[in-house]
Parts: sequence; structure tokens; C-alpha cells
Amino acid sequence: MAFTLEIVSPDRVVLSETVDFVAARGVQGELGVLTGHEPFFTKLAPELLTFTQDGKNEVVAVMGGFMDVQPTKVTILTEAAERASEIDKLRAEKAKERAEIQAAKVQGAQVEVALARALVRLRAVALLESVRGGGGFHR
Ligand code: ATP
Repeated sequence: MAFTLEIVSPDRVVLSETVDFVAARGVQGELGVLTGHEPFFTKLAPELLTFTQDGKNEVVAVMGGFMDVQPTKVTILTEAAERASEIDKLRAEKAKERAEIQAAKVQGAQVEVALARALVRLRAVALLESVRGGGGFHR
């Protein structure tokens, strides 16, 4: 049975879809959610989220945030998220380079966050490319 997955960032509703399964990375570990799940709330790590819809897997890069699970709806509030298909790979590569150059000069949470975001985005693109190329679907 299907349920609703909604991902919202400050600037937009990233997605609102009817899905069959959601896999995400909570700060305490990997989470798999099916419909009818008991309510819970968790903080998310900056990671790939995947969901299954009509037998197809979709990939989303989620930059951390919070996940509220209810029996018929999962809501994620995040600073930023993109479907893998809407990620600008070149932009993420440039962001990674910039963050790496910065990291060599200064240490700090901001540089680490920028690097983590770029890496998650690039992994999302790589996963999408591997699926399209007939490769497996392994997060
Ligand atoms: P950049 O340095 O390239 O701007 P950033 O890490 O500063 O990246 P964020 O602050 O994480 O970017 O996100 C700002 C906005 O830009 C968000 O709406 C996010 O979804 C979008 N965004 C960031 N990077 C990409 C990308 N590579 N492809 C598509 N959208 C992106």
C-alpha cells in the first residue's frame, strides 16, 4: 500500500509523491519506511534518500534535516534537497573543488558542510548514471 512522501525546503516543495517505500539515513542509522509505520521523528544525515514508486527506484540528495513519520505520510524538512535528475553535476564538482581548496586552508564546520553536500550530490548523480547504464541500485 502506498503513502505520501513530501520533502520541503525553505524555497520549495522538492517533491510530493505517492510512494511504496522510503529508505533514508537517520543520524542513528539506516531507516526503511513502509506504509502504516508507527509515528516517529528523527534527524537526518546529509545523505541519499531513495524511494520506490510503482516498482521503480528514485534517488534524492537530502542535505540533512528532520523526518516525521506518520502511518500514511512521511514529511522531510530540509535546508536543501534535489532529485538526482535535477542535480547540476558540474556545479557540484565545482563546489567540491572549492570546498577542498578551502579545507586545505581553514578548518571549520562550514567547509565540511559544503564538502559533504557536494559529495552527496555527486553520489546521487553517480547512482542515477549507474542505474541508467544498467548497473545495480546500491546506495
Ligand atoms: P553551490 O556552492 O554550488 O551554490 P551550495 O552547497 O552552496 O552549492 P546549497 O546551499 O546546498 O548550495 O543549496 C542552495 C540551493 O541550490 C538549494 O536550493 C539547492 O537545492 C540548490 N543546489 C545546490 N547545488 C546544486 C546542484 N549541484 N544542482 C542543483 N541544485 C543545486
